[in-house]
Amino acid sequence: MIPGARLVLLGRQGAGKGTQCVRMARHYVVPHISTGDMLRMAVKEGTDFGRKAKEFMDAGELLPDDVMCGIVRERLAREDTTNRGYILDGFPRTVGQADELASIAREGGQPVDLVVDLEVPEDIVIQRISKRRMCVDCQTNYSVDSPPRYDWTCDNCGGEVLQRDDDTEEAIRHRLEIYSEQTSPLIEWYSERGLLVVVDGLGHPDDVTQRLIRDVDHRTRRIVG
Ligand code: AMP
Repeated sequence: MIPGARLVLLGRQGAGKGTQCVRMARHYVVPHISTGDMLRMAVKEGTDFGRKAKEFMDAGELLPDDVMCGIVRERLAREDTTNRGYILDGFPRTVGQADELASIAREGGQPVDLVVDLEVPEDIVIQRISKRRMCVDCQTNYSVDSPPRYDWTCDNCGGEVLQRDDDTEEAIRHRLEIYSEQTSPLIEWYSERGLLVVVDGLGHPDDVTQRLIRDVDHRTRRIVG
């Protein structure tokens, strides 16, 4: 990937975006910006905003576009992203958010370089989400099939590893419905703008990482060349 590139990752809940974004951010040495992680941090801090956000999240609802766009606008103005680019995970999730991201990018003279759709079918993500676990402190992802080394204690920070509050069957179903109604139109939206690459998210996480890096390198080289 070209230095300072700006990348967006799309994909259903449970497609592996969080895990793969952490790996890619490490590989390319760019900030990983996850709106879900930012919101979970606010929930943990117990702010008024965090309490309100938790109601939306536990119900599997999206927070309003203006709230999310404000958060992302502020985050993208920070020096680390203006210098080094970013990998954006969980935003945009609606056409309104994609429009706003395009204006933020235009105003800053820093357009999004590439949008990856990490493709995993719905029946597989439902299985994956039911097995998903997360560190309550640093938000590292685990699964029942690949747990932390010691007794559901995070390998990274020693925090407790639990199921997410919003990974209930009802909330998952609702989030997937919202994904197909409101987020999946972005695949076409970005494809029309020549920014989309679709990457198969099935298989072992290490294989998916290799596939992602290969395709991102290939496409961002073409942008530069
Ligand atoms: P995630 O970890 O990306 O699955 O996000 C968890 C929850 O945070 C979502 O189900 C939404 O309630 C909320 N959320 C995260 N990103 C956004 C966004 N871009 N727009 C609206 N709500 C969001």
